[in-house]
Amino acid sequence: MSELTRLTLAEARDGLGRGDFSAREITEAHLSAIEQARSLNMFITETPERALADAGAADERRARGEPLTLDGLPIAVKDLFCTDGILSTAASHILDGFVPPYESTVSAKLRDAGTVLLGKTNLDEFAMGSANVTSYYGEVENPWRARGDNRRRVPGGSSGGSAAAVAGRCALAAIGTDTGGSIRQPAAFCGIVGLKPTYGRCSRWGIIAFASSLDQAGPMTRTVRDAAIMLRHMAGHDPKDSTSAPREVPDFEAVIESGVRGMRIGIPKEYRVDGMSSELEALWQQGVNWLRAAGAEIVEVSLPHTRYALPTYYIIAPAEASSNLARYDGVRYGLRVEGNSVQEMYENTRGEGFGAEVRRRVLIGTYVLSAGYYDAYYLKAQKVRARIAQDFARAYEKVDAILTPTAPTAAFPIGEKMDDPIAMYLNDVFTVPASLAGLPAISVPAGLSGEGLPLGLQLIGRAFDEEGVLRAARVLEEAAEFTALPTMLGGSV
Ligand code: GLN
Repeated sequence: MSELTRLTLAEARDGLGRGDFSAREITEAHLSAIEQARSLNMFITETPERALADAGAADERRARGEPLTLDGLPIAVKDLFCTDGILSTAASHILDGFVPPYESTVSAKLRDAGTVLLGKTNLDEFAMGSANVTSYYGEVENPWRARGDNRRRVPGGSSGGSAAAVAGRCALAAIGTDTGGSIRQPAAFCGIVGLKPTYGRCSRWGIIAFASSLDQAGPMTRTVRDAAIMLRHMAGHDPKDSTSAPREVPDFEAVIESGVRGMRIGIPKEYRVDGMSSELEALWQQGVNWLRAAGAEIVEVSLPHTRYALPTYYIIAPAEASSNLARYDGVRYGLRVEGNSVQEMYENTRGEGFGAEVRRRVLIGTYVLSAGYYDAYYLKAQKVRARIAQDFARAYEKVDAILTPTAPTAAFPIGEKMDDPIAMYLNDVFTVPASLAGLPAISVPAGLSGEGLPLGLQLIGRAFDEEGVLRAARVLEEAAEFTALPTMLGGSV
């Protein structure tokens, strides 16, 4: 592994600023890391030519004394963001050959800040999944393996390629999207930081839609500081997305060292779910101790509707998905499978173009929105969603942030839970409530399981208080001293 791929985003930024190395050098180091890790299937499309051109332009700007804020920093982009002139697939067969003539707002902001695009990362098809096993382009492998167990493991999902690339030192940082946990859970599985911002903090424009009232872009990085840097360059109001918030974007990096003295951290008793492993419980307690030692006040809180969050999410998300995915009909985008009539062409295209999980969601979504069942399922779910948001609002009268585990287990072997959708959906038990309430939440690598696999802790904040979340996350990060390297890079075996 090259020294240059070991740097954090902040270190690389500073190193480039001092002229210790060039954008071309650090880009080449990452391109060769990607090549070496190719068997993990992190990328759907590698863009080495674009990366070298971006790097060259960055070096020229620096030579002229006009560097951009993130000039020359190589990053990876989840293949759910549309990228101008570059294949954008959502990991679905139905988007075969789709090359958008436009760029998503978030990736455009990062491009305009000078970052170098290494490629488009693999994901679950249309971001539906928790293990990156539903991709048309094949599963992604986690760079971590358990001690004494050589089975290949999932990186989590749906932003599994982004998480694996950052953990595997194939990108300084990556962007993902989170609808019900797809940034935080893969971050936890791969031992990196993943931040889902407040709904509305980042523009959704140009992100291939899954469930529009939940989808949110966010950074996946190796440190909290890097997440703060990335978020600053991703966030902001966008006239092209009416749900993006007209709010100032703070300098998140400037506040991360402010600590948690005087902050009140809530521990929701409803998150002590049946069957939680004792090591996860111990880690959670450890997190409590770390925050208390840093001067936070720990308060027990109640989020009484927590147990309804998962079923509510798995009604609302498929409902919105069934509507969003209606546009893939063989006429406007990608794949077309001919038939004897237009109707048959639609059916053939959608039948062949969508994988099993996507078809399942379209069916569930269509069902819960159908005339006879709308009130019983969809409307009810909307009401429960409001209760869940209310639970958080009440808790935030007493506390400033909430601490929970990110996921109920560490990364599991590829193949497990694959024919049991309910078991797969249970991965999201701790992440969906914040999604339904639209709140910012971060996962921080906090320790290793008994098997030597990463475990994450989650902090959920008040709406638009990413600063509070990042501050507390930084305290956890400092206390946890998570320096273990993935097995692939010679870490714990
Ligand atoms: N795992 C969840 C799902 O399958 C969340 C996905 C996401 O956040 N995109 O829907």
